[in-house]
Amino acid sequence: MNYILIGPPGAGKGTQAKKIVEKFEIIHLSTGDMFREAKKSDKVISRLLASGELVPDVIVVNIVKNCLLKYDVKKGFLLDGFPRTLNQTQELDIMLEKENVKIDGVLFIDLKLEEAIKRISSRRTCSCGASYNVEFFPPKQAGKCDVCNKDLIQRDDDKEEIVKNRLTVYENQTKPLIEYYKNKGLLIEIDGSKSESEVFKQICKSIKK
Ligand code: AMP
Repeated sequence: MNYILIGPPGAGKGTQAKKIVEKFEIIHLSTGDMFREAKKSDKVISRLLASGELVPDVIVVNIVKNCLLKYDVKKGFLLDGFPRTLNQTQELDIMLEKENVKIDGVLFIDLKLEEAIKRISSRRTCSCGASYNVEFFPPKQAGKCDVCNKDLIQRDDDKEEIVKNRLTVYENQTKPLIEYYKNKGLLIEIDGSKSESEVFKQICKSIKK
């Protein structure tokens, strides 16, 4: 089973992706995670992420291509955060055709932009990977991770001005993908305004094993 996960920043893609790959035992390819790792040693990537802009298509496409070659994609995969532009979508189609692999569905977690802003501004993360929301899912002790007790931080790109830019980038560059996949009959709409567990239930119901 091969799925794509798309949605605006703050829709809970990262959280749902972890649950999906664990339950269905498929490979998780998150371009956001790859670039967060890459920014530690690459100043250009670091600057792009800090501004909320997208990494150029040519870089993203190459990275995804290498990943798809490295893993046994026949086991099934979830693409999280890719594709994000129409050009990336077309490049992905070409890559998959070459490998004779098909996408079974595109999970689109839909969320109103005002709600996305509210969620992102109260999001906090820990370097161990745990994530919290000071309003809806606070840690037991304010500012500390429940898992490892380290200090929680706010992602640089979750700060207000950057969030606004990420949402504009999403509206202009990623939203057109929804129409593209709808026309291909692959779009699965998920109501992202519901609780984390309800969103996951909707996803599980729509996934064909
Ligand atoms: P995410 O965690 O998916 O929101 O990604 C964090 C950041 O990584 C984005 O704001 C972009 O700067 C970069 N990024 C992730 N995936 C892509 C992609 N498919 N194309 C371009 N940039 C990306």
